[in-house]
Amino acid sequence: MTTDTNDATRAEAGWERGLFTQSPPRLGNQYRDDPLLGGYLRRTLPMAVYRACVDEFDELGAIAGGRLYELQLADRCHEPVLRQWDAWGRRIDEIEVSPLWREAERLAVRHGLVATGYDRGLGRHARSVQFAKVHLFHPSSDVYTCPLAMTDGAARSLLDSGNAELIARALPRLTSRDPGTAWTSGQWMTETTGGSDVGRSQTRALRDRDDDGPSHWRLYGRKWFTSAVTSQMALTLARPEGNPAGGRGLAMFYVEVRDADGRLNGLRVDRLKDKLGTRKVPTAELLLEGTRAALVGEPCNGTRAIEPMLGVTRMWNSVCAASFMRRGLSLARAYAGQREAFGDRLERLPLHADTLAALEAESWGAFLMTFLLVELFGRVEAGEADEAQRALLRLVTPLTKLVTGRQAVQVVSEVVESFGGAGYVEDTGLPLLLRDTQVLPIWEGTTNVLSLDALLRSDLNAGLAALLGRVSSALRSVSDARLAAAGRQSLAAVERATLWLESSRDRELLQAGARRLALTLARALQLALLCEHAQWLLDHERDPRGRAAALRFSRLPVDLIHEVDPVLDRELLGIAAPG
Ligand SMILES: Cc1cc2nc3c(=O)[nH]c(=O)nc-3n(C[C@H](O)[C@H](O)[C@H](O)COP(=O)(O)OP(=O)(O)OC[C@H]3O[C@@H](n4cnc5c(N)ncnc54)[C@H](O)[C@@H]3O)c2cc1C
Repeated sequence: MTTDTNDATRAEAGWERGLFTQSPPRLGNQYRDDPLLGGYLRRTLPMAVYRACVDEFDELGAIAGGRLYELQLADRCHEPVLRQWDAWGRRIDEIEVSPLWREAERLAVRHGLVATGYDRGLGRHARSVQFAKVHLFHPSSDVYTCPLAMTDGAARSLLDSGNAELIARALPRLTSRDPGTAWTSGQWMTETTGGSDVGRSQTRALRDRDDDGPSHWRLYGRKWFTSAVTSQMALTLARPEGNPAGGRGLAMFYVEVRDADGRLNGLRVDRLKDKLGTRKVPTAELLLEGTRAALVGEPCNGTRAIEPMLGVTRMWNSVCAASFMRRGLSLARAYAGQREAFGDRLERLPLHADTLAALEAESWGAFLMTFLLVELFGRVEAGEADEAQRALLRLVTPLTKLVTGRQAVQVVSEVVESFGGAGYVEDTGLPLLLRDTQVLPIWEGTTNVLSLDALLRSDLNAGLAALLGRVSSALRSVSDARLAAAGRQSLAAVERATLWLESSRDRELLQAGARRLALTLARALQLALLCEHAQWLLDHERDPRGRAAALRFSRLPVDLIHEVDPVLDRELLGIAAPG
């Protein structure tokens, strides 16, 4: 052997100058390497739609696992910069975003990551196609999906408002595939008084005396969390003068952030938040000092008017959670296939394999529930949903967002541990993944707030009946004996959750148990969807992986209903009973 060959062999084996070196985990084409996404799309999309879209999925899969991922690792230390003043003392409040964000913006527009959702040619499948692309793109985008989600939410909210003038002005830009005309939108809701309890907002809206137009107002107040403040427009809430307190007294307003000359519209960016994660997303504190705004609908009921925004952003959040899990597991599995300990590769060590299998099962369950939500959303928008599907959509929107947010944090935290010490080191990119994931259970409604949203909705009974119907229909398609047994577990969990709800009369006990109820319903639905998909994979693609995922999931906690004594909890926390 020549010296050259010797060196090459040693480098391949991980030796450099006599020292052992580790190889980084490599990502392949993120579409081709994801049997779940491909199988799901082949099962649910008409063949003609699938064939028309598959090349673009493949292209995005290559970009996400290739040059965008490399750019993301190289761009790790860039953060947005706020320049509040120019050299001549002029207040400018300009924000420079990272190079990866600029590239992500171009890709998002070119691939129509918002526009596809409004592509009427795709009928009720528009959302499934759109979110398959988002699922591929998101983990390499440094959360550029945040402004995209709000842009999509703004488009939906404007359409639902019926305000023809604003729709004509903003919709073509929000759904543009041309980088020269495309806009993104923010949503400015959270104030220091509350994000969950947004009815306490203090921003005031006064009629603009210099403007005769019927819908021109000036806003005064402070918005405490405004992400993607580089957007061209925003939807926001403010209280018209004389309106009562609470959510009903708020109204929804449309704001353009700068005028045609680039001057800020009566607002200041006080500072960018110094955050745990999503650090590439410029999240600002804004001071509105007479911001010119247009009323979108009626001068009240703003929290109701902005609900379409939340429906859309919660769906994006769920897709981002599922795709972060996929990314984490792609990396963890690649690493387990190459790293050796105790004389074998990690993936061949029984306990490591057991750990990864449980995470895979969680991620399959999360994905299938998320894409059920997406599918239902597309149906409703296309006018092809029946009443049960509408009720199901209303219930699974908060359930999916809350369960997938929690699953993503749990899975990605384990992924970091699965790399040992390397997982804790910044330039592997893994800590970033965990920090970015941690936002998912917080923004767009925390786990508790969404659990209560699901529990306290007036149409909960219709939603529960629809959920039970969907679980039953999923299980009717199952013929494999082991899957059928797992499926019965799912049905039993839904029935026990419903029974708990019917038998719990005490308001405090009900509220205290809301999260356990929501998670039980969500996990039971995930198990049923896993069984349904597994049967299809067995029947149509002779692929046993879905069955393995369903059976593994059935061994994880599904039914989380149990009685808890709030008196003991108060004793533990040293707090008084609610007034
Ligand atoms: C990175 C980032 C970006 C953001 N970007 C935006 C943005 O662009 N636009 C925007 O409007 N907002 C944005 N937010 C704000 C976000 O939506 C809010 O922080 C979130 O909704 C929670 O509101 P809060 O911070 O007021 O928490 P609180 O409502 O004060 O909640 C505190 C805790 O109390 C719990 N809690 C609250 N009420 C109940 C209840 N009734 N029962 C039980 N538990 C309860 C919550 O679960 C939480 O754990 C962003 C936040 C972050 C972290």
